[in-house]
Amino acid sequence: MTDTEPNEPRSGAPAVGRRGVELLAGDARDTALLANVRPAGWRNPRPARRYNLVVLGAGTAGLVTAAGAAALGAKVALVERNLLGGDCLNAGCVPSKALLRAARFHNDLRDAPSFAGCAPIPLEPDFAAAMARMRRLRAQISRKDSVRRFEGLGVDVFLGDGAFADRRTVEVAGATLRFQHAVIATGSHAAHPPIESLAAAGYLTNETVFNLTERPRRLLVVGGGPLGCELAQAFARLGSEVVIAGREPYFLPREERDAAEVLADALRRDGIEVRLNTEVKGVSRHDGEKLVRLVNDGQETTVAVDEILVGVGRVPNVEGLNLEAAGVEYDHEHGVRVNDHLQTSNRRIYAAGDVALAQKYTHMADATARIVVQNALFWGRKKLSALTIPWCTYTDPEIAHVGLYVKECRERGFPLKTFTVPMSDVDRAVLDGEPEGFVKIHVRDGTDTILGATIVARHAGEMINEISLAMVAGIGLETVSRVIHSYPTQAEAIRKAGDAYNRTRLSPRLKALSRCWLAWSRGMG
Ligand SMILES: Cc1cc2nc3c(=O)[nH]c(=O)nc-3n(C[C@H](O)[C@H](O)[C@H](O)COP(=O)(O)OP(=O)(O)OC[C@H]3O[C@@H](n4cnc5c(N)ncnc54)[C@H](O)[C@@H]3O)c2cc1C
Repeated sequence: MTDTEPNEPRSGAPAVGRRGVELLAGDARDTALLANVRPAGWRNPRPARRYNLVVLGAGTAGLVTAAGAAALGAKVALVERNLLGGDCLNAGCVPSKALLRAARFHNDLRDAPSFAGCAPIPLEPDFAAAMARMRRLRAQISRKDSVRRFEGLGVDVFLGDGAFADRRTVEVAGATLRFQHAVIATGSHAAHPPIESLAAAGYLTNETVFNLTERPRRLLVVGGGPLGCELAQAFARLGSEVVIAGREPYFLPREERDAAEVLADALRRDGIEVRLNTEVKGVSRHDGEKLVRLVNDGQETTVAVDEILVGVGRVPNVEGLNLEAAGVEYDHEHGVRVNDHLQTSNRRIYAAGDVALAQKYTHMADATARIVVQNALFWGRKKLSALTIPWCTYTDPEIAHVGLYVKECRERGFPLKTFTVPMSDVDRAVLDGEPEGFVKIHVRDGTDTILGATIVARHAGEMINEISLAMVAGIGLETVSRVIHSYPTQAEAIRKAGDAYNRTRLSPRLKALSRCWLAWSRGMG
């Protein structure tokens, strides 16, 4: 399949997908994706008498749970109401990162004169081609999440809405699945903000935005979190005029302020109009435009756009599961309540991934699924609180973090020392033309124990893994400085932070002694 097939469906073509995430009807790549993750004519198997594990939801958390348990010999049923692969494959990480890569390519072309010494390349980004590439790659990756693959692993795959009938039974599409243990892995969906007339004017979320085939000329992105920042940058680099409006005074409010400031500057450089501290009050339609009222510091302004993309948070999928019948406690904001072993208030039922976690990331869905397999099937006592969790926002530059922030260290009463290395001090970053950002590592004062780190750099998501490894293995910053890093690499910034730590260990007394010794040895010839 190529990315320039004739008969591209147009934006607005009816979408397929039963609930939540939608795909583009008539698109060959999305048809290939569907054949993997929701094959037409699929017939649910006859249920086993009892399952070791019934898994509700086939996103990352559900798929990893099902595959892991089946590999250990468990009889597993996997229930999915829409598309296997869940958000990550169909409407999250995979399509967004494919789009960001195409956007980065276009941005790099702007630097052609400085890299290649050539005249500026007058290239108009081909939005439809970038979206088609994304769909092709998504379809390709979907093989790993396919119904057939899970069938081959020995998992009974049921397509349909799953709900508990009682404390030990799930029902789906007329079938009754009895279980020893069950796992709720039903994920989350986009929050819909109560903005006046927004619904009537029409707007996009992550569930629909990847169906666009035509570039919106003017786009308003509502929300200054990871999703809003990543997609605002992608659309701007692919040629849309983008305004991003965030309620907080900074992007990524959780991140350290200097990181958020680098990001704000980067978005402005991409030509994005940044409106922080800004509330979206209401929308009206006029002559095919969407007029959006924004309020900042009591001052109201109106922006005219063609599309609105909303990314203001995630809501756990707890509706329709009949959790009351199963004796599972939950609330609509935080989702299913779990203890540190990911067990719900029904000790036979566990939860993993977005439906139960504050940290809504694919790698957390994966990590918690692994905990659940051990705890549910083998009386394991693995704990959520024992995990070291990195995360990354994949803007350019990327912003990655692991461990504690300065504020959290202070709240916990940990005295800390911070070692910061600007990327402009790292030869490879300079040579690559990527000198923006920094590596910042916090250690417990008086020790080399790493408490946390923030990296702002083009490849921060890759670099943070070295710090995560050090933290998990209990390796201190002094040891990190002894690890030989290939030259020139951007990860040398981490070693340099280790060198900076080592310099602090030289007390004035040691320094004086060393100076005396060297002076004496010079005198001895
Ligand atoms: C735009 C975007 C970009 C993202 N990018 C990243 C990233 O780069 N890196 C990262 O780590 N994370 C990223 N995430 C987050 C990541 O996608 C989620 O954390 C991850 O998909 C959660 O997996 P999950 O299995 O918990 O839930 P989901 O993927 O939501 O899967 C849950 C599944 O359960 C099904 N389901 C729900 N109710 C029922 C029911 N009653 N019966 C049967 N099935 C049911 C749903 O249909 C769904 O398929 C991104 C998210 C978005 C929205």
